[in-house]
Amino acid sequence: MAVDYQPPQCLSRPIEVPSKLLMGAGPSNAAENVLKAGSLPLLGHLHTEFTQIMDDVKQGIQYAFQTTNTLTLAISGTGHAGMEAALCNLIERNDVVLIGINGIWGERAADMANRQGADVQTVTKVAGENFSLADIEAALLQHKPAVLFLAQGESSTGVVQPIEGFGALCTKHNCLLLVDTVASLGGEPFYMDRWQVDVVYTGSQKVLGAPPGTAPISFGPRAVAKIAGRKTPISSFYFDMNWLGNYWGCDSQPRKYHHTAPISSIYALREALALLANEGLENSWNRHRQSRDRLISGLAKLNLKPLASEPAARLTCITAIRVPDGVDWKSVTTHAMSMRVEIAGGLGPTAGRIWRVGLMGQNATDERVDRVLEVLAESIKSATTPVT
Ligand code: PMP
Repeated sequence: MAVDYQPPQCLSRPIEVPSKLLMGAGPSNAAENVLKAGSLPLLGHLHTEFTQIMDDVKQGIQYAFQTTNTLTLAISGTGHAGMEAALCNLIERNDVVLIGINGIWGERAADMANRQGADVQTVTKVAGENFSLADIEAALLQHKPAVLFLAQGESSTGVVQPIEGFGALCTKHNCLLLVDTVASLGGEPFYMDRWQVDVVYTGSQKVLGAPPGTAPISFGPRAVAKIAGRKTPISSFYFDMNWLGNYWGCDSQPRKYHHTAPISSIYALREALALLANEGLENSWNRHRQSRDRLISGLAKLNLKPLASEPAARLTCITAIRVPDGVDWKSVTTHAMSMRVEIAGGLGPTAGRIWRVGLMGQNATDERVDRVLEVLAESIKSATTPVT
């Protein structure tokens, strides 16, 4: 039988992938061992050897989040999937959800919460600033939300949100605290249990340095109780934590097929978590802080200023740099890319106003900081030198 359409010509060429230094907002470069783990033989998603690997991954995630929560696993999907999973499990129609917006990630969370039928309320800060306990307490008193969303690492503005103290505040006001750590986990201190965070998620492709496609997530006891007490079913089958918790061996029932886990991505995530465990969180936090400090001093020598004027508000993993007047930001990133170095532009409210340099995972080293500074300086020079 003849086909209606012929095989595409492009697929007869071998795949071509250049090697680039990924110093933008993510993904970051993955370690050789992580990539190798992803090419190990496939197993079935319920084979005992694979469920053992899932158990190892769960322990690695618990360590990375600093929690003993049983309902801890990796969502099959990117950071957005983690965000959607957290929100759709926690929210029932008309629940009041308070979203801290100081960049694009609060906006996205508000969009998703709206789609869940929540009564979305917001508390906002300008790009480059974060929320104080007083800002949040005033908003909690005003709106009396069931859930509060904060992004620890606002990657669109290069801002870190302090989390310590916010969990206790939420508990006092009978609200669950949900934290996005996609752009901060492993690079900024984070203590899920100590800081009484109810739900947290992250992504695999930033500090963890695994390929994009898995999103570690954890639910604490208050969040588990909220799910158990739901009057309406969780709107998503794919992200239903009752199913996922069972498939990941988080309850006492035999594991049941829910979906086919992305086997190779879970291998790679295990290897990335093993690297983090081997280095130790404290060492990883220090390495990211030192790299960021080296970057900031290098930027000062180039007369470049971070967006966040308050040093304590600057994220270690992603630095937002103000584009100087008269410089075309896009020519700079294009020139850097021609040197096989990725530097990102702004996103949402910061588009056109900043560059973003990511120092994450394997890329948080003196050598890579020096390289990105060199490329940035040369790219700015080339963008401002008139062609004669
Ligand atoms: N939250 C934050 C803070 C992020 O930086 C990102 C990715 N840039 C996401 C969520 C979404 O992650 P992904 O692109 O993996 O879906």
